[in-house]
Amino acid sequence: MIEILRSTKQFDIFRKNLDKKTIGFVPTLGNLHRGHISLVKESLRNNDITIVSIFVNPKQFGPNEDYEKYPRTLGDDTNKLKELYRSEDLIGTDKQIAIFAPESIDEIYPDNFSVNISLPELSNKLCGLNRPGHFDGVSTVVYSLFSIVRPNKAYFGQKDFQQYLIIKKMIEDMRLDVQIVPMPIKREVDGLAFSSRNQYLSKEERADALILTRTLGEIKNVVKNTIWSEAKPAIDQIINESLKDTRWDYLTYLDSKNLENPVEKTYMLGLFGAFKLGDTRLIDNKLVEIKYA
Ligand code: AMP
Repeated sequence: MIEILRSTKQFDIFRKNLDKKTIGFVPTLGNLHRGHISLVKESLRNNDITIVSIFVNPKQFGPNEDYEKYPRTLGDDTNKLKELYRSEDLIGTDKQIAIFAPESIDEIYPDNFSVNISLPELSNKLCGLNRPGHFDGVSTVVYSLFSIVRPNKAYFGQKDFQQYLIIKKMIEDMRLDVQIVPMPIKREVDGLAFSSRNQYLSKEERADALILTRTLGEIKNVVKNTIWSEAKPAIDQIINESLKDTRWDYLTYLDSKNLENPVEKTYMLGLFGAFKLGDTRLIDNKLVEIKYA
């Protein structure tokens, strides 16, 4: 069964009847694609109730970003979730999907809303440098949604790896009773990560978008196959060469645990890139184990 809840009040009434059920939560901006669907699938597998929130959160968009034009497709999203529910053979079972799609911004941010959740150490790098305030907007809305939804588990894609780490740290610091579940990146056949923003791309931009994925892949191969003392200068060279293309916002590597520069004991390296194609900015990342001698 699928329910659609358009206000916090409606959601609260729905939530009151779920006391003994396990609740999985998938927060999204909507315009669902196969990346989102993989999170919902995993939640359906492991929880009685799966709640998908669809809310284009104004606080996480900068003044010159795509808040206005961000695709709002609640009808299509609902159909995709219905189709998933059917194809997973859940009709007639106790499993349930609820879509929490607040009809207005006031449902999440009532008049005079004044809280700001900020994790500056993890936020002031990578995407945070070019998108000031973005991660405060994300952590604030996720905290607020956690308070409304009160999930047992929350599913986040590693496509937004920095976001995942920030929410994980927020949960730890605030001792929230939510288990965060990271999910692998879903990709198109040619390797481009699914993103709602891919549809903004022209044909040529779509072809060039592969530079992002391919460069990260190239760096990953070097790190995977070479001891770190040799891999590091080799990937520094690839990065310096690549950055001559001014479409890169950033292309770098950090310790995937804390987004600090790698140290001697760094185990898993995160390779991070953001690439601009016209007005569209795409991000991607790959994780790779460092090989020590
Ligand atoms: P968004 O609607 O962009 O805020 O994304 C909602 C959730 O879906 C976030 O946890 C994202 O990391 C996740 N997500 C987006 N794209 C992908 C993808 N290609 N693969 C896996 N997860 C994704």
